[in-house]
Amino acid sequence: MKRRDFINKAGMVAGGALVAPSVVQAKAKFRWKMVTAWPKNFPGLGSGANLLAKMINEMSGGRIKVKVYGANEMVPAFEVFDAVSKGTAQMGHSGAYYWKGKSAATQFFSAVPFGLTAQEMNAWLYYGGGMELWRELYAPFNLIPAAAGNSGVQMAGWFNREIKSVADLQGLKMRIPGLGGEVLRRAGGTTVNMPGGELFTSLQSGAIDATEWVGPYNDLAFGFHKVAKFYYYPGWHEPGSTMEAMINKHAFNELSDDLQSIVMAACKAVNMDMISDYTARNNQALDALVNKHGVKLMPLPDDVLRKLKQLSEEVVLEVAKNDPMAQKIYDSFHQFRTQVTRWSALSEQSFLRARALV
Ligand code: CA
Repeated sequence: MKRRDFINKAGMVAGGALVAPSVVQAKAKFRWKMVTAWPKNFPGLGSGANLLAKMINEMSGGRIKVKVYGANEMVPAFEVFDAVSKGTAQMGHSGAYYWKGKSAATQFFSAVPFGLTAQEMNAWLYYGGGMELWRELYAPFNLIPAAAGNSGVQMAGWFNREIKSVADLQGLKMRIPGLGGEVLRRAGGTTVNMPGGELFTSLQSGAIDATEWVGPYNDLAFGFHKVAKFYYYPGWHEPGSTMEAMINKHAFNELSDDLQSIVMAACKAVNMDMISDYTARNNQALDALVNKHGVKLMPLPDDVLRKLKQLSEEVVLEVAKNDPMAQKIYDSFHQFRTQVTRWSALSEQSFLRARALV
């Protein structure tokens, strides 16, 4: 590359016959691969990744062409991080909590149990110092992160048995990733993580007793209502999960300033688009689940939620204590949550309460 750059520059200066740099740039084509942690075209998540690619293609006037790969098309779901880090793919779309094995601190950038809602999460990332910390965390892995989607508050999940008290969590084998998984483990459950595409079969065969995935829109698409009886809420473990785009640093640095801006602007647009998509379609899917498929909606009892909340505070604090970078991120996250909780109580929470009055 260096040799070619040198020849190009030397040629342009000495020869004068070569095309001007701006023209070279305009004709440049970057062919990027975007690997994702989602089944190809999966509603919300996969379609969000598709939209991201489409926006980058269109906004760049074709100077960047991004091709999207579903989970297992190029690499398995849980190898997205490594593939983009190594440059096998230039870009990825996934959830940061899948990478807790790389650094426990990644989990702060997807979902923290009893943490932040979608709106609060975006406020922390964009205006509360979160994004700077995320970039710092991913830099040693050769990655540039961006928020690129949000599911909103998720559902607690699908259970093949009723949860009436904390005791019912004992021995429960549940698919639940990230910090929520650790919390459930401490509450007496056995937790596993596996990609979305494997959940239906695992629940059907009884390999797991329960699974969380996202919410009505996505859960209906997987058909969990056919294999589990009870659908619990609220998603205490994922109150507003951020989806991430990650970009290989070398690939990003090859782009001109305008193309870099285009990539980042497209991520921001998809971050907003996805939460709108989820909010609209969760309503429709919930209606189908309840009225067409007879799904039983159940709230987790308050004493179960209280226990999970207490364990969550412990788990999150421990993640911070064991790693200096996680501590730094926790401090920022925790301070922001304390502040925003007060405002959210006065604004969203009291409005929603008022709206529900009869
Ligand atoms: Ca989930």
